[in-house]
Amino acid sequence: MGIVRDEFTLFYQPEYNLDTKNIIGVEALVRWISPKRGMIPPDVFIPLAEKTDIIYELERMIICKALEQKRIWEKEGLEHIELSINLSSKSIESEDDFRIIENIISSYKVDYSTIIFEITESVVITDFNMVMERLNRLKAHGIRLALDDFGTGYSSLVHLVKLPIDIIKIDRSFIKSIPYSNEETSITKNILAMAHDLNYRVVAEGIETNAQLEYLTQNSCEGGQGFLLCVPLPSEQVSQVIKEKM
Ligand code: C2E
Ligand code: MG
Ligand code: MG
Repeated sequence: MGIVRDEFTLFYQPEYNLDTKNIIGVEALVRWISPKRGMIPPDVFIPLAEKTDIIYELERMIICKALEQKRIWEKEGLEHIELSINLSSKSIESEDDFRIIENIISSYKVDYSTIIFEITESVVITDFNMVMERLNRLKAHGIRLALDDFGTGYSSLVHLVKLPIDIIKIDRSFIKSIPYSNEETSITKNILAMAHDLNYRVVAEGIETNAQLEYLTQNSCEGGQGFLLCVPLPSEQVSQVIKEKM
């Protein structure tokens, strides 16, 4: 893969407070720009990288690039902007590789209370106690955790609520059918009610229409991302968008 040729770059998609419409943070999304094949989306190459050990190296590179960018934003007066980084379940499952990530975290001096790691339910299924221990090690740095693609996995809620998760991101497959009254819309409404009861912050993924935005705002969904609000952008462009809104 293009790691050695440095063909990977990070784009950043803003996350909005749906009440105030302010940008509260950005999510780092990796892009592979291959000179031969053009832009290859992460849902194509991340699963491939996860089948081999390449994922570990790729993930370290992504974390370093993201923290480097975070440091630049902190120097530019954007220290309040949260940065979310997606973390593959493989990096959590391997103690050696998890330790390397911890070392990277210790070596970058950024405000970790504004860093969020996103994990998916797939990580939970393997070894619950091990996952719990590793996640608590991340929390010891002040890092917050988000459960990504919520609603698409098969994990038991009884298990999920025991994890030290701060934020729940509702998968865009549920957001898609809003405002039509069907099962997905009803699930979204219930996820919101349950998450608020359990004191999670909720972020809706993939908001594409005004009707979806309105519905989510009315149902007290705190955060939102989606093409309607802003597409993922290179770092300089996203800084511009954030500064224009300040
Ligand atoms: P994700 O973490 O759930 O990221 C959200 C995906 O939804 C992104 O796709 C984003 O571009 C897309 N998206 C945002 N708003 C909309 C919208 O309104 N409509 C639609 N249709 N899509 C929207 P992307 O960048 O292609 O990433 C796909 C997945 O690849 C991510 O899903 C994540 O699971 C994985 N991924 C991306 N970057 C990384 C990374 O740095 N590390 C790891 N481990 N995984 C990553
Ligand atoms: Mg994500
Ligand atoms: Mg997601």
